[in-house]
Amino acid sequence: MDNTNNAESFRAFFIDNVSKFCDKCGTAYKPDNIDIVSESNASVIIQAQCDNCKGIYMAHVIKPLQMTKKIPIRLDIVPAMLHPYYLLGPISSDELLALRKKLTKVKTHEDLLELIGKQKKNLKSKG
Ligand SMILES: [Zn+2]
Repeated sequence: MDNTNNAESFRAFFIDNVSKFCDKCGTAYKPDNIDIVSESNASVIIQAQCDNCKGIYMAHVIKPLQMTKKIPIRLDIVPAMLHPYYLLGPISSDELLALRKKLTKVKTHEDLLELIGKQKKNLKSKG
């Protein structure tokens, strides 16, 4: 199945069956406000962000399209950025400690840029 059409159908499903309006301020959702965070064979996680108040809600939908519940969620990350982080999976304490060790060695702007460059390469090889 075409992924774009799939996402479109989930957006329509969210508006038609889960929620037409923001629970916080009542603003109507537009298809652009709705993102698919992840999809498996069994379920879909859909995220909606209100244009007006920026309130974020998530819905976990069990296939074939029977929703469970819409829940409010506080996030400081925009939907487009959430997806790549979601794909990376949970961060381990080893990863955090390794990064901390590297950060303590950063003394200059150049050091930081070099470290970020290395991190990007690592992410690419991981995915
Ligand atoms: Zn709102």
